[in-house]
Amino acid sequence: MYDFMLTDVEQAVKREVREFVKNEVSPDLIKAMDKDEIKYPRDYVKKLGERNLLGLRFPKKWGGRGLPWTAEVAAEEEIGVLGCALGCAYVMPSIVGEAINTFGTDEQKKKYLIPLLKGEVVSAEALTEPRGGSDFFGATTKAVLNGDHFLVNGQKRFVVAASEADFFLVFCRTNFEKNASPHNCISALIIDKGPGVEAEYLYGLLGCRGGGTGRLVFRDVKVPKENLLGELNMGGLIFNQTMIPERLTSAAASLGAFAALNTALDYSTKRVAFGRPIRKFQAIQFMIAEAITKLDAARALVYLAARAVDMGEPNVRRLVSEAKKFATEANWEIVNKAMQIMGGIGYTDVYPIEKALRDARLSMIWTGTSEIMSLLIQHEYYREVAEEMGEYRDFERDAIGGDETEKCFTDEDMWKVHEQAPVS
Ligand SMILES: Cc1cc2nc3c(=O)[nH]c(=O)nc-3n(C[C@H](O)[C@H](O)[C@H](O)COP(=O)(O)OP(=O)(O)OC[C@H]3O[C@@H](n4cnc5c(N)ncnc54)[C@H](O)[C@@H]3O)c2cc1C
Repeated sequence: MYDFMLTDVEQAVKREVREFVKNEVSPDLIKAMDKDEIKYPRDYVKKLGERNLLGLRFPKKWGGRGLPWTAEVAAEEEIGVLGCALGCAYVMPSIVGEAINTFGTDEQKKKYLIPLLKGEVVSAEALTEPRGGSDFFGATTKAVLNGDHFLVNGQKRFVVAASEADFFLVFCRTNFEKNASPHNCISALIIDKGPGVEAEYLYGLLGCRGGGTGRLVFRDVKVPKENLLGELNMGGLIFNQTMIPERLTSAAASLGAFAALNTALDYSTKRVAFGRPIRKFQAIQFMIAEAITKLDAARALVYLAARAVDMGEPNVRRLVSEAKKFATEANWEIVNKAMQIMGGIGYTDVYPIEKALRDARLSMIWTGTSEIMSLLIQHEYYREVAEEMGEYRDFERDAIGGDETEKCFTDEDMWKVHEQAPVS
């Protein structure tokens, strides 16, 4: 609808993905996944790979199309109508691929990135632990370097494709010095499925079913030293980099709320109450107006963030966090309104609105909760304003001891940030 904001190439990709969604993804697959009859949609990923639709922005050399991030976001908007599980299967190569493409060696790219983008193998990312997901730098899964390999022990949870993935991007603690900064303690490893890597529990979920979301346990897993991504103890950099596609894709997929809105719109023209189509009632008209306004605002912010990443803007972290928070919350509100407009039938599985609502709830939690996005947004803004005023001080380093962080802030830390911020 707003394709004038996109280049010809980006528009063409968007149309291509829309056709794929319409013609290649059967509603039966979506229903079977929602019933948990399927643990991971491998065939769907394979088809996407065969059409060269995975990881569109990666260099052609490694199997991408060398397109801008904005093109990928346009593709994800279309994929978003399929819901969280198929959306996640689409974007996982983009997220895990970001770590490999940016920090990996050529050998790692040949071995993992190329088959990933062909859809021949499935990857998963394992950050969250039973002890918590928001406090990334508190990770306790251990990887002890022992000659030519790491010995990995620990647990991750809520890992999509826990039992199905062929390899995992795993963030582990590798520095055990007592006084080490948390930002110099984590490393990223590629861990192949194999002995000692077990998916020990698959969760029953409100939405996003069919992706095999589980708890992953590592018991004395021997990981070759060459599977370290980037430098030892510098996993925080990789985490920050992967959060760009992770959060941008959550935001972009949330724009798929247009499908729920359009279903409600169509319904409102046909459903008659008190002798007239319900679209004639102002209450319905206002809900439609609010929903489309929210969607437009979300779309503008998501594409702004994507363009900012393409152009190497310095305030990317704030814009991506804003887009993630705003678009996922808009998704929830829009789908909720769509359900209200449709009355009782919207709550049944006759229409896909109830599934969209269950999925929408997740998008405000995963890939960083709305609260964590708020922390990042305000923090980055303080920093930007201070820089603009020529009074740069590294607030975050002052406050919590590092600038590559997403560590939990305590209330006390927050006040330190406030005290140091310029007052204008
Ligand atoms: C279906 C599903 C799929 C997922 N897929 C993956 C995956 O593939 N890989 C993966 O690694 N993870 C995955 N996750 C994990 C997800 O990213 C985490 O659940 C999320 O980051 C929150 O972590 P948590 O659940 O441990 O909550 P916690 O970190 O324990 O947070 C609990 C609550 O406290 C709030 N909170 C925490 N710290 C602060 C703070 N400093 N200030 C204000 N509020 C705060 C949070 O916002 C939240 O409301 C998935 C989760 C689900 C449910």
